[in-house]
Amino acid sequence: MNTRSLSFRLVTWYAGVLTLVFVALGSLTLIFLRHYLDSAVLDTQARRARQIADTLIASVDRTGAAVLSRQVEELYSPVVNDRFIRITRAGGSVLYISGTPHDGTFVPAEVPPLGTVVFDREGVFERKVALPGGSLLIGAVASRNYVVEVGVSTARTEETLQQVLLLLAVGLPIGVLIAVSGGFVLVRRALKPVNQIAHKAEEISQHNLSERLPVMNSGDELERLSISLNNMIARLEDAIQTSKRFVADASHELRTPLTVLRGELESLAQDAQLKAHTRESVGSLLEEVDRLAEVVESLLALSRLDAGEANAERVRFDLAELVTTTAEQMSLLAEDKSIRVECDAAPDVCVEGDRSRMKQVVVNLLDNAIKYTPNGGNVLLRIAKDGDHAILEVVDNGIGIPSEALPHMFKRFFRVDDSRSRDQGGAGLGLSIVKSICAAHGAEVEVTSRPGAGSCFRVRQPLARGV
Ligand code: ADP
Repeated sequence: MNTRSLSFRLVTWYAGVLTLVFVALGSLTLIFLRHYLDSAVLDTQARRARQIADTLIASVDRTGAAVLSRQVEELYSPVVNDRFIRITRAGGSVLYISGTPHDGTFVPAEVPPLGTVVFDREGVFERKVALPGGSLLIGAVASRNYVVEVGVSTARTEETLQQVLLLLAVGLPIGVLIAVSGGFVLVRRALKPVNQIAHKAEEISQHNLSERLPVMNSGDELERLSISLNNMIARLEDAIQTSKRFVADASHELRTPLTVLRGELESLAQDAQLKAHTRESVGSLLEEVDRLAEVVESLLALSRLDAGEANAERVRFDLAELVTTTAEQMSLLAEDKSIRVECDAAPDVCVEGDRSRMKQVVVNLLDNAIKYTPNGGNVLLRIAKDGDHAILEVVDNGIGIPSEALPHMFKRFFRVDDSRSRDQGGAGLGLSIVKSICAAHGAEVEVTSRPGAGSCFRVRQPLARGV
């Protein structure tokens, strides 16, 4: 579990606050309940005391203390009912006091005398007395020259409060747990669109900038976020389109003047009156113009590939046949360097795509293999099937590629070292064209190499359906 995640932090805060609220509510409930129960019990005691005062005290002067005591015992049975009853004369002498109750929660003799207290307008005084065995709630009523006190132990109230406390102690964690689980589900659900947006954003690259993030029509921050990000992607798409258009237009515009320049230089070179060193300069100028024209053609090709023209003509063709004929057409190049080009082709390796673009892939890879293999070397072209994929390997035993350069091989204008390709005419665009064509055909291209031992470029393309 990621403790720094938004959902974890939200749920933790939520659980913390909820627990605090529950604990505070529980404590308040207990305090109020105790207060309410105490005052209800006290009121009951006072009412009983009033009853005794009204019914029995009225006739005590006539009947005497002994009769009163008997009447109290008969009518109220304080010992059996666990009650405290005391009747005191105005002078402080006790007329009657109940015995120790059955539950033994208090000893009546230990209850301190009332002393001088102020009774309310109805002649009632209520008090809570703390005794060694527990507290006693006593309601006292003043009647004529007597004070009647009726009390009961708080044991029963305490028992009720204990039960409520137990209920809270069990219920509170369960309540928090249910609320937190619910909160977790809610947070998860609320953050789901964020994951969807992030997932989609991961998929968008410069090749599919026309795609957009999902917009939740929720009218909240998430909707605003996805709209803002979509606007940003639209601006990026616009900027990239502009720069691509610029490259395409520039290379297109450069083509004609370069063709004119080449023509002019060629006719100049044929001038018989030209001095030897001028002819030489014209020759090297022609070479530079050729190189420039090649770069312009590559740039134009790349911008067309970027514009999605790579797979315009989709046909089914035999990859082995394409590779062997291309190799034959380029055999002169290899013969110049006495390089042996061999083909090892499996039958019926059919793929689908733009034949001339795929031919460009073979040309670029084979051209590089010949270019970067010393005289007398070997180049092997291997075409095979691997499951539902066609494999094309161009293997040479040339100069190889240093490992630090391998990750950059398919980047535009990348050359392993300037000196090795400058004099051979490369601008570092050939492999990026290969990569773009492969990408448009759902193919992958990769390279393995060992400096001094040779390189292997491997293209993996899906076979045509139904093969
Ligand atoms: P270039 O047109 O300059 O050859 P590429 O994109 O075709 O550009 O290749 C980029 C760089 O990769 C080259 O500069 C070259 O150093 C290196 N390279 C390509 N193919 C091979 C190979 N078969 N053996 C060794 N180095 C290679």
